[in-house]
Amino acid sequence: MTGSAVALTGALRAALREELDSARALRRRLHAHPRVSGDEADTTDLVVDALGAGPGLPAAETGRVVLLGGGRAAEGCIALRAELDALPVTEATGVAWAATGGAMHACGHDVHLAATVAACRAIDRVGAPLPVAALLQPREETAPSGAREIVASGLLDAIGARAVVGAHVQPHIDARRIAVTPGLVNASVDEFEITVHGGGGHAGYPHTVRDPVVALASIVLNLQQIPARRIDPVHGAVCLVGGLSAGTAPNVVPSSARAIGSLRLMRAEDRQQAARELVEIVEASAAAYGCRADVRLVDGEPALRNDPTLAHRAAAALHAEGYDVVTDFRSFGADDFAHYSERLPALMMFVGVDGGAGLHDPRFLPPDDAVDTVAEVLLAGYVAALAG
Ligand SMILES: [Zn+2]
Repeated sequence: MTGSAVALTGALRAALREELDSARALRRRLHAHPRVSGDEADTTDLVVDALGAGPGLPAAETGRVVLLGGGRAAEGCIALRAELDALPVTEATGVAWAATGGAMHACGHDVHLAATVAACRAIDRVGAPLPVAALLQPREETAPSGAREIVASGLLDAIGARAVVGAHVQPHIDARRIAVTPGLVNASVDEFEITVHGGGGHAGYPHTVRDPVVALASIVLNLQQIPARRIDPVHGAVCLVGGLSAGTAPNVVPSSARAIGSLRLMRAEDRQQAARELVEIVEASAAAYGCRADVRLVDGEPALRNDPTLAHRAAAALHAEGYDVVTDFRSFGADDFAHYSERLPALMMFVGVDGGAGLHDPRFLPPDDAVDTVAEVLLAGYVAALAG
């Protein structure tokens, strides 16, 4: 880091300390009042209020982008992204501030929101060189993705965003360890629906039917050829069939059968190849059973690619601040933050936490001090992006 970056980091950390008590309290309020994807307006209002910088601009219906810090606005800003939505999960943490009513912040978004407020207010306090944009994004957990909509809307251009920075709590990483991985971090994910059309009839006359259930069973197994034999294992692939449906009676061959699933890949070229292979395998397998199949593919998130320069800078800064930093954490999880990484230099960092359970689990509850760590990590991302 340059001398000025070191000085700025010191000032930001001092300013951050003033914000942490109220940020932790905000985290508990958000946790107690979760709102699921598409219904985030109340959460947005709470966070915008806490930022104390005016109403901001609308983003993807229920979201908002709020600029803080003077700086030289003509030179643009750096966006810190936080997800607004909770999950349709019934909380089982047993804490006094647990949510009731069947929604829960089981992915740590309450922590990310509170940390983003603290980081943005710290940047505002010290009068940092560039404004920061609190990018309060709805619909991270569902389609249509809030990030995709924000990118398509031109909002990032309108505010002059030069980079987008995010952080996510991650119970698969040791507590207090931070993962700042240059390059590919998360897989792309696309969903598919397969419908096999056969010829139904009486179970006692199998030679007169074309059985779509047997064809579909074969398709499910054959699809495992994609990760096992079609995609270079160095880069990896996941093909998951998550749902099957066909028929209603034990003695009737149905006329159709259906499967739903998802494909996850790290590289764009593998993503295209896997989609082609999927259609080819499904059609050929169905034909072998005298059936016909339709495949519907729905584009999901692209792979998430961290800007290498931003990652190296942020990793060095966090290491200098005494954090245990790893630079090789990758997973086949997906995050719609990937849409930002296709459009602008972007950096998603993962903050190790002991949440008592995995993400999306009804018992998942990171400790309050995760707010402090996520805020410090976001500030390191902001300072890294300033130099860009
Ligand atoms: Zn999440």
